[in-house]
Amino acid sequence: MPRPIQAHIDQSALEHNLQVARRTSSSRIMAAIKADGYGHGLLRVAEALGEADGFALLDIEDAIRLREAGFGQVILLLEGVFSAEDLALVAEHELACVIHNPEQIALLDGYQGRGTLDIWLKVNTGMNRLGFSPQQIPQVMEQLQRHRAVREITLMTHFANADEPRGIAEPLALFNDVAGSYRVPRSLANSAALLRYPETHGDWVRPGIMLYGSSPFADVSAQQIGLKPAMTLSSQLISAREIRAGEEVGYGATFRAQHNMRIGIVTCGYADGYPRHAPNGTPVMVDGQRTKTVGRVSMDMLCVDLSDIPQAQVGARAVLWGDGMPIDEVARAAGTVSYELMCALTSRVQVV
Ligand SMILES: *Cc1c(COP(=O)(O)O)cnc(C)c1O
Repeated sequence: MPRPIQAHIDQSALEHNLQVARRTSSSRIMAAIKADGYGHGLLRVAEALGEADGFALLDIEDAIRLREAGFGQVILLLEGVFSAEDLALVAEHELACVIHNPEQIALLDGYQGRGTLDIWLKVNTGMNRLGFSPQQIPQVMEQLQRHRAVREITLMTHFANADEPRGIAEPLALFNDVAGSYRVPRSLANSAALLRYPETHGDWVRPGIMLYGSSPFADVSAQQIGLKPAMTLSSQLISAREIRAGEEVGYGATFRAQHNMRIGIVTCGYADGYPRHAPNGTPVMVDGQRTKTVGRVSMDMLCVDLSDIPQAQVGARAVLWGDGMPIDEVARAAGTVSYELMCALTSRVQVV
């Protein structure tokens, strides 16, 4: 029998969360499914989100896999192409690609094929990761609009602070300033902007994290937004014991019992993708009841406080995150974000 840890993917939750996005915005929806569908499985996610108008990801191999599986939607490569060979594949499989630097324009110039390409031209509005500055856009647009290899151009940007109090006002103004001169489709919004700033919706919204049932905001829960968790990581107790006041737990003895107590060992550790940095007190659910981790997370195991769950015996179910145990709470306790937890699941975790 395999080790009892598993990630359960709820496809109806993905469908439900897509409907939440639909109700919030009338723009076309480009579902962000990079990083293997945020760790949920590329094809599994694409199938559940089959009603989306497009898919955004990074690897051209994944994009081709989607095409070959019969997905006819727009499939956008978020970092564009890395070589002339990529460009030929983009044309062959009718993919769309971001253009974010002059090197990619040079690749376009060298493109010898007959096909034409749909380009998403990226404007850097302050994130300073990818894209052309607003000042460069007129010249680049001029070049692309008369380019023999270019079919449709969409103008896009990506917000650095849509989930933060600082918001989107500045970058939105910068973007609208340059995009205003062109009659082309626009795309700006990630999940946070989709949910909070209708003025950013444009022609295409690009939700990611919300589709997986996690809140992009620190101060609003997924439940408050009406989202359902798509991934539930669960495992089982494989040991339970009484320890006495003063006894310690785990590597480095980071936990010392204040009183006699009962603890349990869950077969789930950092080699499964559970964050090693999750401190004492990280929330976890055992046998349907909330409790906390104790001691340091090790490679294959973590320990939980069973003081208030006397009925929990070896074999009891532990939910690390997902159904009944919001991933956002676990992420906050571990000093990270749900995105990282979802993507960190390792291949030894059985996905069902
Ligand atoms: C990942 C990504 C998104 C989705 O972001 P979420 O915060 O997960 O909604 C949107 N746009 C771009 C360019 C991305 O890389």
